[in-house]
Amino acid sequence: MSDLDTLTYSAYLCELVDICMQDEESNRELFKHLVTAFYLIKNNAVDIETLARAFEIKILQATGYAFSLDYCCICRKKLTSSNYISLQYSGGVCKDCMRVNGTYISYAAYNALKYLTKVPLENIYRVTLSKEVKRELYKLLSILIEQNYFRKPKSLEIFNYLTEFHEDKV
Ligand SMILES: [Zn+2]
Repeated sequence: MSDLDTLTYSAYLCELVDICMQDEESNRELFKHLVTAFYLIKNNAVDIETLARAFEIKILQATGYAFSLDYCCICRKKLTSSNYISLQYSGGVCKDCMRVNGTYISYAAYNALKYLTKVPLENIYRVTLSKEVKRELYKLLSILIEQNYFRKPKSLEIFNYLTEFHEDKV
């Protein structure tokens, strides 16, 4: 991992914490996640993109926007998997319910999302995601972050630039 990537991702995680918190509010859980993430980055122990997605999920959970993926977020029927996420209710929708205000994702991405909501951040090094799944989760989580918090992380724009830059190189 290049120093620039490390720096950009670290800045992004800090910005995300800043964005999701109200002024003067303290949230120990968020702080703990941030320390864990920095530890993993420093030890070069994880795929940083996977860490960033897992971190976003933890942030959403810690601030009251947890995903509901085990049950349909509309009819509460048990779900083993789904290919549709409601952006309104931040959860999976079963095949019998109406699919509005949401987005289709692959079953692989849904299952990865479900797994990431449950695994502790310090165990994220065990997770391997395909490029396509990472891309899907990135899109979904950016929408939810933008929708739930008032500001959009600026470092996301730097990311897009970096990603294009990397893709040009290969
Ligand atoms: Zn349903």
